[in-house]
Amino acid sequence: MQQITDDLFQDMLRWRRYLHENPELSNHESNTVDYIIKELNSFDGNFELVRPTPTSVIAKLKGNNTDKTVVLRSDIDALPIDEQTDLSFKSSKGGIMHACGHDGHTAMLLAAAKTLGEKEKEIDGQIWFLFQHAEELATGALEILSTGHLSEADYIFGVHLNNNFPVGQFGLASGRMMSASDGFSIDIKGKGGHAAMPHTTTDAIYVGTQLINAFNQVVARQVDANDQAIISVTTFNAGFANNVMPDNAKLSGCIRSFSEKTRIFLKEKMKTITDHFALVSDCNIEMKWQRGADAVINTPYLTEAVANLINEKIDDGKAVEIMPQMISEDFGSYLKEIPGNFLFVGSGNPEANIDKALHHPKFTFDEEAMKYGAALHIQTALKMSSYKED
Ligand SMILES: [Zn+2]
Ligand SMILES: [Zn+2]
Repeated sequence: MQQITDDLFQDMLRWRRYLHENPELSNHESNTVDYIIKELNSFDGNFELVRPTPTSVIAKLKGNNTDKTVVLRSDIDALPIDEQTDLSFKSSKGGIMHACGHDGHTAMLLAAAKTLGEKEKEIDGQIWFLFQHAEELATGALEILSTGHLSEADYIFGVHLNNNFPVGQFGLASGRMMSASDGFSIDIKGKGGHAAMPHTTTDAIYVGTQLINAFNQVVARQVDANDQAIISVTTFNAGFANNVMPDNAKLSGCIRSFSEKTRIFLKEKMKTITDHFALVSDCNIEMKWQRGADAVINTPYLTEAVANLINEKIDDGKAVEIMPQMISEDFGSYLKEIPGNFLFVGSGNPEANIDKALHHPKFTFDEEAMKYGAALHIQTALKMSSYKED
């Protein structure tokens, strides 16, 4: 990979490692944003800095401002995870870690801003570099959109490092790429009593198991098999003694889906099921549903344009087609309003033991991958800022 100069790669290493050592949780990215702004201010190019929310920033490069407005987005927040790597730049903050590669995303976007700032006169349209807060809470993208700051954007592009792919590979999906993710919690309240006399109780544990069965039945028999969905119950807490029937049980979990129709269907069906079992079991059942990330559904003609860019313009770069994933990313909210594409940048290197999944306390990525992500940002901006649609 010759496209990224050694000087720029050294910059990326410095940025990534500083951010890795100084992670900040969602909505607390103050130092991170200050650091990004300080670096942006040292670049060539007339960047107009806009602050949509207290811990996010958009750097607008106006170019010749006669054509398309292209947004390149990076997320900047870290996770509440206690890092277990032995990196020399390991997190200096106990219990907070960049375990999702957002440190790398930020470094790649800074590298693109630095490079494109130097080429400002060659750019026909505008390039906006969006450093977004609170992706891990699935709230940041919606907050940025609600400020109206992206209302003039023509296209939006984003990337995520991923160790499931080797360095040099990019994982792309036309249309459905990542599912919507919603959460739920259920509180079953009834009557406890002696384990030997269940008929005098409402047996909250049994009611809970009936709910789980019914949820599985909805996914298996009432959702079109071509329209992927999952309901996973991930916590189930009840009881305290082997001869006492508890008076309550609590369940929680997550729902994954792609189409808005199925998303709402599952929400409503789960409510119907809980109401029904409340009635037949003489329990009081309360269900709370928390809306999370929207599905990432790429714009097919832009996925194709990016795949062509990768294969034609990125040294040793290779675009591979991937199946839709049931993980989520709040980038999906942008794609509901702005045409664009999101993809994975391969960052795995099993020979160097770099193979951990995102959010693992030993997660790290092959820093060489940043060259590919940065090169793609640069090529995407140059191409799409003067893109002519058929
Ligand atoms: Zn994450
Ligand atoms: Zn992430």
